[in-house]
Amino acid sequence: MRAAVLGLGKSGISAARYLQQAGYRVVATDDKATSAPEGIEFSKDIDLTGCNFVVISPGIALTHPVAKMAKDLGVEIFCDVELAFRNVQDAKIVGITGSNGKTTTTSLACHMLNASGINAKTVGNIGTPILSETLSGSLVVELSSFQLETMSSPALDAAVILNITPNHLDRHGTMEEYTKAKLRIGSILKPEATLWVKKGLFTGYHQFGFDAACELYTDGAYIYRFGKKEAPMPPLTAHNAENFLAAYALACSQGADPELCAASYASFTKPKHRLEYIGSHNGVQFYDDSKATSIDAVLRAVESIDRPIVLIAGGVHKGYPYDAWREPFTKKVRSLVLIGQAADIIEDDLQNAVPIVRASTFEEAVERARTLAREGDAVLLSPGCASYDMFTSFEERGKKFQQLIGLSDHTA
Ligand code: ADP
Repeated sequence: MRAAVLGLGKSGISAARYLQQAGYRVVATDDKATSAPEGIEFSKDIDLTGCNFVVISPGIALTHPVAKMAKDLGVEIFCDVELAFRNVQDAKIVGITGSNGKTTTTSLACHMLNASGINAKTVGNIGTPILSETLSGSLVVELSSFQLETMSSPALDAAVILNITPNHLDRHGTMEEYTKAKLRIGSILKPEATLWVKKGLFTGYHQFGFDAACELYTDGAYIYRFGKKEAPMPPLTAHNAENFLAAYALACSQGADPELCAASYASFTKPKHRLEYIGSHNGVQFYDDSKATSIDAVLRAVESIDRPIVLIAGGVHKGYPYDAWREPFTKKVRSLVLIGQAADIIEDDLQNAVPIVRASTFEEAVERARTLAREGDAVLLSPGCASYDMFTSFEERGKKFQQLIGLSDHTA
């Protein structure tokens, strides 16, 4: 048995090791590497002849020459999660996808399950490769559109689609293709499993939202599921309430106790850099939303903060127009401090909608934002862009922001 691994990130390495243990001869390749970790055969010039399949990293497009070679040779190609789903036997698995909120909802669903005494783990796109864990017990898997587009094995016991807004169109090409990839989550459900979608997203599935017509909804005070009043609703609004309902749907589908799920929100810590409150100084509040790399995530942040905002945005442009920011920014954003490669495009799209200043470094941007903010304002880092022109990751950008603000010990 022979298998190839394309891409030697965390998920690729875990797939290679998993396959070796299962008795495969594994050869790996990666454009950015010259060798593989100890014990894994590496080839710059990989030959797929005789390979049973190729495991592709979600970071690599299916247009990559090795992926094309696989297609030409009729060799199957799929991601590490599909490999896990083909081999899983006794795990209960719930899946989460969407354009925004996946990591938060995945962590919350896991937290709710644990609060109910069901020992669960988070895996997948959240950062822990599924094949680095034993495939048993309760797994909460975060699924990106890149993973979903190569998946076909029905292993999910329940799933949610949180939302679909423009993202990753550089890889998927069109909104239609991107939506199709997200909807593939419906084809990897076990026959008796349920797919939950945010109200209005698609018909034909169970819906969650703020409307009594949904199978799961909240009126702000209580949570109602399948027509039954189940538990008190924590004080959440907008996207936080949506993520909560999605996590609740999944946890309850796995036998978690509704009251315990709802009550567990009080002890839930949101993952870092997602509209994270850092603290306040001289009447100015500071928020780190470094993970906001899409147009919609920035809109949600601006909607959520109930005061005038000095916003730091920009970075690597992801290809979408910023026009949707015009109206909300006119109402809420006192000043916009722009950084990075996208600054010209954002400035063009927001001409006359909001006062704009430019900063040539991140440090300068934070300093400008501080001086522009008045008592009663918020300073918000919510870039709407990728970080790679100035940082290695959104985490590094967020940490740097928190360090420069200097109000917390959140810099570790
Ligand atoms: P993902 O894993 O899908 O990128 P995260 O939970 O990491 O999602 O959050 C990414 C960004 O999206 C953050 O800025 C966060 O505040 C924002 N966000 C979280 N949930 C939602 C939602 N339901 N709708 C829109 N934006 C959201």
